[in-house]
Amino acid sequence: MHHMETIDWKNLGFGYRKADYNIRCWYRDGKWGELEVSDSEQVTMHMAATALHYGQEAFEGLKAFRGKDNKVRVFRMDENAKRLRNSANGIMMAPVPEDLFMDAIRKAVKMNEKYVPPFESGAALYIRPLLVGTGPQIGVKPAEEYLFMVFVMPVGPYFKEGFKPTDLVIYREYDRAAPHGTGIYKVGGNYAASLQAGTRAHKEGYSAVLYLDAKEKKYLDECGPANFFGIKNNTYVTPKSTSILPSITNMSLRQLAADMGMTVEERKIPVEELAEFEEVGACGTAAVISPIKRVYDADIDKEYTYGKEPGVVSQKLYDKLRAIQYGTEPDPYGWTEVIE
Ligand SMILES: *Cc1c(COP(=O)(O)O)cnc(C)c1O
Repeated sequence: MHHMETIDWKNLGFGYRKADYNIRCWYRDGKWGELEVSDSEQVTMHMAATALHYGQEAFEGLKAFRGKDNKVRVFRMDENAKRLRNSANGIMMAPVPEDLFMDAIRKAVKMNEKYVPPFESGAALYIRPLLVGTGPQIGVKPAEEYLFMVFVMPVGPYFKEGFKPTDLVIYREYDRAAPHGTGIYKVGGNYAASLQAGTRAHKEGYSAVLYLDAKEKKYLDECGPANFFGIKNNTYVTPKSTSILPSITNMSLRQLAADMGMTVEERKIPVEELAEFEEVGACGTAAVISPIKRVYDADIDKEYTYGKEPGVVSQKLYDKLRAIQYGTEPDPYGWTEVIE
């Protein structure tokens, strides 16, 4: 029995919700097959699949937005395609060709178009592509069979009570990724490694952990699932590190900051520099920017505080990027694609 569910667009959170269809593609005998459409939420795979034992799993996260003009736009999916290819190569999985990736996204959005929230709601359609090693191995080696999938769900605006600053915490006893390890790839293993610290941070009232570089514990790395940036003297500063995931939001904000006449620096940021920033934020697809009002360094009981309201630069960057995503301002770099 099928009934049209009425979705309360204004009160969506960020949680799994079933849409009608998902897209799948198998890699077998050394080549990718055709895109398949499924209405099942289940995946069947061999119990010795490498994804289950040796962590051969990578994913992506991006969004589609419905504009005032009712058009549905996907943001920078070519960059997600490149990044998934990089993650696949990084953990020895069959890379998904970029055209195949983008066709799967277009199809997943098109077929679930009724789940793309209305413009006024501030909500969006979250798109989750994933690539898993499904072929069996018991010796530690890459699988010979892979499944690439794309599923979608409507998600609410990240800031239900408005664009509000939160707190971060630094703990030196946990690392999420090692220098020259897998931190630069969007793989599940990094998330497993971040669960202990992340759960503790939430329990203690912080929105996320701000990790330091694992080797020296001297420099800022990133915030669990988001990149870090600081603003001072008309400069946008973000960490350069071999253990952080290159965020597409961060890349976009660097461009917008430069366009606003700011200096942009990608370099090592010593922890102590937290005292010099006028504004700090976390950035990623989920929220675009999460402004930060306080960073607490738990090991030395020291706090760095910022405004209780979002800073002017963060607000400007946030508004500009959202306007491009929703099609209310021109998109000079062709970051969005309208799904026809
Ligand atoms: C996905 C992710 C980000 C954010 O990247 P966006 O492309 O901006 O969404 C940042 N850090 C980590 C560890 C991530 O997995």
